[in-house]
Amino acid sequence: MTALRDIIAAQIARTGPLTIADYMTLCLLHPEHGYYTTGNPLGAAGDFVTAPEISQMFGEVLGLGLAQSWLDQGAPTAFVLAELGPGRGTLMADILRATAKVPGFHAAARLHLVEVAPKLRAEQARALAARSPAWHDSADALPDDLPLFLVANEFFDALPIRQFLKDDTGWRERMVGLAEGQLAFGLTQPSRIATLEPRWNGTAQGDLVETCGAGAAIATAIGTRIARNGGSALIVDYGHWASTGDTFQAVRAHDKTDPLASPGAADLTAHVDFAALAGAVPCAHSPMTAQGVFLERLGIAQRAQALAAGLDGERLSAHVAAHRRLTHPEEMGTLFQILGFFPQGAAPPPGLDP
Ligand code: SAH
Repeated sequence: MTALRDIIAAQIARTGPLTIADYMTLCLLHPEHGYYTTGNPLGAAGDFVTAPEISQMFGEVLGLGLAQSWLDQGAPTAFVLAELGPGRGTLMADILRATAKVPGFHAAARLHLVEVAPKLRAEQARALAARSPAWHDSADALPDDLPLFLVANEFFDALPIRQFLKDDTGWRERMVGLAEGQLAFGLTQPSRIATLEPRWNGTAQGDLVETCGAGAAIATAIGTRIARNGGSALIVDYGHWASTGDTFQAVRAHDKTDPLASPGAADLTAHVDFAALAGAVPCAHSPMTAQGVFLERLGIAQRAQALAAGLDGERLSAHVAAHRRLTHPEEMGTLFQILGFFPQGAAPPPGLDP
């Protein structure tokens, strides 16, 4: 039981069932009780551990890839270096440290962060104070008059999704309602939905399709800037390419729980549909590329060896385990995928599948 559960139950009693997207938005971003607004979700003491929190190598290698992309596009002397959902600021701090020796990169970079959670903004301010970042509530507010080089790790999975179950006559939306006073899933009556028409052929009765309108809109905002002014984006997340099935999940204290059990106290996510993001950008995009392969192509093994030289005992074993965790197919290596955006006709950012 949480305070937010009562608020949500009262709202449903008043105005009817919520879409999963509305439920997710309340749980994650409610101004007083939202998961990201109130908590410190990340890290060993939080609910989940992300790649940049596992090892500095992740951000270093990603940063050098981004800097190479900047060089490939003629090293523009002013550009926006942006991150969506920077968490504790670890990834961007690692990117900046690794790129400090790339001539001209830091002098040209203007740091912009998209973050809604005040507590996390404060952590980012501490981690990145030297670069005086500008913060925005949404990707739409990013500058649109400079090349944009952008990273997002485990950002798109936090955006609200809707779920639709295919029936013989139409789609039934999965909603959050009340059953005997408890939050419970239900289904609307079937109807044909214009935005889901492209998925009608190729899916079967009983298939569940997820949509993420917020994710598509953000991809469009980024892709429009890259098409117009140059730049590139690396979107890293767990996900798939236009598959079907229920991926809505809750994680609390490193364990999966029922998404309806503790509103505001558990992280809610869904797998990212990379095909939908790729379909929403007016610039070019890469194929979806496995994180393990991507990091190996960008030289994580060499970086791991260099760092290992200064370590022994438990710190060395932890370092070796971190490398494996980021890259091995049984760990994050294939579960996590990268999608790259870049201008038509420009070289794709390095490391991605051709
Ligand atoms: N990228 C970080 C954190 C991932 S957690 C890492 O890899 O460690 C998701 C991040 O996205 C958090 O910083 C969260 O506050 C932010 N976030 C979630 N939903 C958001 C939204 N709708 N708009 C902006 N930021 C959001």
